[in-house]
Amino acid sequence: MHQAGAAVLQQLLKFDPPRSEQRQVPCCCGHTAKYLELRSKLVLSAVGEVQCVRPYFLCERCHVGQFPVDVELDIENTEFSPGVRRMQALVGQQVPFDHGRAQMQILAGLEVTTKSVERTAEAIGDDIVQREKKEVQKALQLDLPVVMGEPIPILYVQMDGTGVPVVKKETAGRQGKTEGLPAHTREAKLGCVFTQTTWDQEGYAIRDSDSTTYTGAIETAVEFGKRIYREAWKRGWSRAKKKVVIGDGAEWIWNLVAEHFPDAIQIVDLYHARQHLWEVARQRYPHEEVKQKTWMKVHQKRLLDKGKIEKLVGVLRSIHTANPQMAEKICTEADYFERNAERMRYPKFRRQHLFVGSGVIEAGCKTVIGSRLKQSGMFWTVRGANAILALRCSHFNGRFEDYWEGRRAA
Ligand SMILES: [Zn+2]
Repeated sequence: MHQAGAAVLQQLLKFDPPRSEQRQVPCCCGHTAKYLELRSKLVLSAVGEVQCVRPYFLCERCHVGQFPVDVELDIENTEFSPGVRRMQALVGQQVPFDHGRAQMQILAGLEVTTKSVERTAEAIGDDIVQREKKEVQKALQLDLPVVMGEPIPILYVQMDGTGVPVVKKETAGRQGKTEGLPAHTREAKLGCVFTQTTWDQEGYAIRDSDSTTYTGAIETAVEFGKRIYREAWKRGWSRAKKKVVIGDGAEWIWNLVAEHFPDAIQIVDLYHARQHLWEVARQRYPHEEVKQKTWMKVHQKRLLDKGKIEKLVGVLRSIHTANPQMAEKICTEADYFERNAERMRYPKFRRQHLFVGSGVIEAGCKTVIGSRLKQSGMFWTVRGANAILALRCSHFNGRFEDYWEGRRAA
């Protein structure tokens, strides 16, 4: 069937020389390009390789040649048809490039190189990155248009960071996690937006199915702030009745929230807060697991989970230890709880049937970033990682097909 299709397609791609009145086309230099001859090239289409024969025009003044048919068919400067490039992009965002090459061979009988899957997927991802940058710019210059639609009961924004392994040049001069050793990863920041309409019989929040969209990149917190703001706006931030941001204790998150989402309810992920309390327990009773557990039971249940943060901070500050290192660590944790006290009023949040955990974004870090960008033996350039991440988010958000269909209109 593929062969038959290729034979038919090849006939359709055999263009005649232009008629005498169509033998001139405008050139980019302002002069005109004249028809010279028919030229052919091989194009890999979804049904296999086909020969395309089309008129070639050359400008006598600037010597730039052009194939108007290639522009029309969207095969300019490429040996792949749009259909094949779409496949390369889709497999390339889903699986390692060589695996994607094999899938195209098995599923569509198409022979492409691993490098071509990588190049095409990254080029298309990069195109999405550039369009997003333009949109962010627009969003900053003008006020964003209000997205019309039904009011949204509760809209959530969550964000988190995760390390992506990169090639050496991307970490030059950057301090790694272990002092004295260079970094091997760069932090990708990922944000998600989702909605909630209802809760279960016990009052626990239920996320609206298929309501989650993601956006992310390896970039500064300032740049990411604009990105996540744009995504939230796109999803109806302005018409949400209740707005909630959930994150861990990371300072960049709350700085960004203060700037872009000042009217949101802010919540520190309960499970992160518990981890911090565990750190105190471990400092206080080193190597004494039973005592750690007992201490946790009391302080987690009676204070942290009840949102009695001032009391908790009081307890932490009154812990006296002769070990200065231990004292410093406990003091750091006390500061953490003090700083985030208003974001830890868990009973108050629960009464409003809100989520208090950042599970959605943590799962997102694994599925959107980890499973594609953090496999063993992978080392990315920042540009390559951001291109694939943009492509992946577009695909996960159900926006890829719209982008693909609309990409030539803009
Ligand atoms: Zn010219």
